[in-house]
Amino acid sequence: MHRFGHYVPMWQAACVTGTSGSLFSRADQLERLGQGQFDVLVVGGGITGAGVALDAASRGLRTALVEKGDFASGTSSKSSKLVHGGLRYLQQHEFRLVYENLAERQRLLDNAPHLVSPLPFLIPLFGKDGLVNRSVARVYLTALWLYDLTGGIRIGHRHQRVTREQALDHMPTLEADRLVAGFLYWDARADDARLTLAVVRTAVLDHGAVAVNHAAVTSLTRDAGGRVTGATVQPDGGPAIDVSAKVVVNAAGVWADDITALGDGVNPHAITPAKGIHITVPADKFPCDIAAVIPVRSDHRSIFVVSWGDQVYLGTTDTAWDGPLDDPSCLPEDVDYILEAANAVVNQPLTRADITGVWAGLRPLLAPQEGHRAPSERTADLSRRHRVDVATDGLVSVTGGKLTTYRKMAEDTVDAVVGQLGGERRRCITKDLRLRGATGGGRFRSGTGSRSGTGDALDPAGEIATHLAGRYGSEARDVLALTDERPELLEPLVPGLRYLAAEALYAVRHEMATTLADVLDRRTRASLRDARAAADAAPAVAALIAPELGWTSEEAAARAQEYAAAVREELRTAGLDPGGDGAGGSTSGASTGASTGASTGASTGASTGASTGTEGADGTMEASGPNEPDQPAGRARTHTRRAAHTPMEGDIPMERGTAAGRPS
Ligand SMILES: Cc1cc2nc3c(=O)[nH]c(=O)nc-3n(C[C@H](O)[C@H](O)[C@H](O)COP(=O)(O)OP(=O)(O)OC[C@H]3O[C@@H](n4cnc5c(N)ncnc54)[C@H](O)[C@@H]3O)c2cc1C
Repeated sequence: MHRFGHYVPMWQAACVTGTSGSLFSRADQLERLGQGQFDVLVVGGGITGAGVALDAASRGLRTALVEKGDFASGTSSKSSKLVHGGLRYLQQHEFRLVYENLAERQRLLDNAPHLVSPLPFLIPLFGKDGLVNRSVARVYLTALWLYDLTGGIRIGHRHQRVTREQALDHMPTLEADRLVAGFLYWDARADDARLTLAVVRTAVLDHGAVAVNHAAVTSLTRDAGGRVTGATVQPDGGPAIDVSAKVVVNAAGVWADDITALGDGVNPHAITPAKGIHITVPADKFPCDIAAVIPVRSDHRSIFVVSWGDQVYLGTTDTAWDGPLDDPSCLPEDVDYILEAANAVVNQPLTRADITGVWAGLRPLLAPQEGHRAPSERTADLSRRHRVDVATDGLVSVTGGKLTTYRKMAEDTVDAVVGQLGGERRRCITKDLRLRGATGGGRFRSGTGSRSGTGDALDPAGEIATHLAGRYGSEARDVLALTDERPELLEPLVPGLRYLAAEALYAVRHEMATTLADVLDRRTRASLRDARAAADAAPAVAALIAPELGWTSEEAAARAQEYAAAVREELRTAGLDPGGDGAGGSTSGASTGASTGASTGASTGASTGASTGTEGADGTMEASGPNEPDQPAGRARTHTRRAAHTPMEGDIPMERGTAAGRPS
């Protein structure tokens, strides 16, 4: 019996393990994939496919998942890492969507508290002469109230107004001359790749699913009537496997059209990929202790700034992408877009030399359906809803959606699968299903690991414990246990970052990591935080994991070289200095120690001109208006006026009767 009391069928019970990770090995999973007859085969190991696998397995269906790269190697490791309702969708009158998103946000906070955590967002309000445009302030206020009422308040905080000084406390380099006040509201953040992995591991270890990474579906198999009956899977480094399944689910994100085309030969063009990029900088270059929403003057959008331990990341862009789906490069103009937006609101501008990491991902947005016109040409205006389709050949496809709503997407998909399977109706149980790391008894704390009693000496400030707990939850003790025999594994995996060498070993032993990119990009987020440092550390990391993966020392060196070259090429493509190609140290001046976790973003509105709200970055709103006038000449006056209008908490000084700002 599962510890949460739901029924586990006998065939699954044999697979359920009490010890963390012992059955999450690729060799074991491959063997089971080859032997099994499945009810459901899920194609795609991003958050959507992972969610479908967990939902199906936890309803008692025999479930397999295959992923052509690593788990989360597609879009699900490249998001803004927000678990959020989407403030801006309110402006598009998507009230139901926001309600659903916020309900899912709450479920994630409950079911994966180690991976998903609340995060406050600052919306700085800029103005002229110490006054904010009235319409701008009203747009925000209305949206924030609606956000709270639509379910935002369930996080335990409602939005609040903050003074200029309070805003500066959070983000000291904001242009103080133009800053008047701000709003704070709450959303949540998650490490997207680790969340995806936790969902897959929960499906496998707690519910008997089979999951294999680095195994691509190359064709769909059919019966004489043309109905899809499974797929041929080509695992890296092994022979092809024919997997038989009563229903195949296409959860391949931006590749979903390719999978559909494998089925009937026709590309449905159901997906419009939209690229988004992020950059990372050391926290002292762009100080922000929470998240913030920054306007993009030229574009009526906004970007997020998100505190991430010793780093801060900024993003994102939203542009149509018709290049190769496997390589959504971050280009120099993408970097310029973020730098220009960021530098427009601070008095300590960022330069390219400050950037330590970049990442680019593709949103799998739903293309407008025939007969429906998109509100505009902009990908930012395309719906963030999801769709579940059942084709005439039985292929079930789930497309669109968000990281935040993966559980609901999975529920809707498996409802459709169950409809295809017929027979007994099986109820979805994932609303209250805790993910791996949130189970297993007790919180992990300093001194509660395998070195019980020596915890304080080992980790006097509790930093290691905090770091591990935020990434592994209760399984952190299994990571720490690796250091019992090998204390050197407590050393940093990548100099300047907090990840421990033990985490790389744990990744290959218990998290199905089989490449350097699996370890440095997704199990840890080292390359996102400091790409040059990750590239420099690749030889040492390869040497550490080589014995586990059966690599010779020559193979390890070659893989390290290949990984470092790819990382440097990504920087070069983005117009950034790759920082040498050999042994030397990181040019990033990388910090000491970061914490863990992931991030989020938000967006604000400003810019000049009209006083209506428009949309911002993923899920945040923007109120455009004379919120951020270009007024260097008026600064002296601004000081004088501000002195007369220093806002009390809860009071936003506003313009009174300007034409643009007059309330309607
Ligand atoms: C820049 C950006 C910022 C975002 N920010 C947020 C945010 O803050 N919050 C939020 O909620 N959402 C956000 N999103 C959206 C969210 O990231 C995506 O909706 C989500 O990650 C999509 O997951 P997926 O599983 O559908 O796709 P993917 O993660 O791409 O997974 C699909 C998988 O299918 C695999 N695959 C493809 N073909 C095959 C095959 N033949 N065989 C086997 N496997 C195959 C791929 O390798 C891939 O791993 C953001 C997206 C982007 C791009």
